[in-house]
Amino acid sequence: MSKGILIVVSAPAGCGKDTILEQALSRNDNLFYSVSATSRAIRPNETDGVSYHFKTREQFEDMIKNGELLEYTEYCGNYYGTPKKAVEDMLSAGKDVILKIEVEGAGNVKKMFPDCTMIFILPPSFGELDRRLHKRGTEDEETIKRRIATAREELTYARNYDYLIVNGALEKAVDDFLSVVDAEKMKTAVCGSLIDTLLSE
Ligand code: 5GP
Repeated sequence: MSKGILIVVSAPAGCGKDTILEQALSRNDNLFYSVSATSRAIRPNETDGVSYHFKTREQFEDMIKNGELLEYTEYCGNYYGTPKKAVEDMLSAGKDVILKIEVEGAGNVKKMFPDCTMIFILPPSFGELDRRLHKRGTEDEETIKRRIATAREELTYARNYDYLIVNGALEKAVDDFLSVVDAEKMKTAVCGSLIDTLLSE
């Protein structure tokens, strides 16, 4: 069985990446979402083990020490990291693995997996991003301001990504995401064994 592809997705907070990924996952059952570990506090709409594996800083630091993380970073004062084993197991099982991580972690993953597919999700505008963050109502005013400033910084990394998807209309963004995955799976470097299979007939 051929290995799955690794898909790295980054987007500033409030760009709707969670919704895009939820819908993409429900429409393509070969996709596997890598649940990250984090030391940040759980939000009311989140579930431990589904949204994130929620850890104390001490527990997270133990994971670092034990080499359990593929990559990790500190973002807005909290640790975030990708558990290594699940990603490796799923890729070996032929699943296409999605990592939803920020730009620094994405750069580190690209160094480890040069063939990974890097997707950056853009807001239609900063005005719209501000509106969405206020509507979400999960963060106070100061946090929102900090997140918008971070979003501007993150956007300067977007040129390093293979694909840019604008989340204006959700349905279109989900279609775009799934089209990218389909196209990546059709790359000769990924599915070249089809040629050998045909020639062996
Ligand atoms: P949030 O607190 O809004 O859920 O996430 C904050 C940022 O951390 C987002 O940009 C998210 O993509 C990123 N993030 C989530 N999990 C990981 C991870 O495992 N590694 C890295 N490097 N970033 C992550």
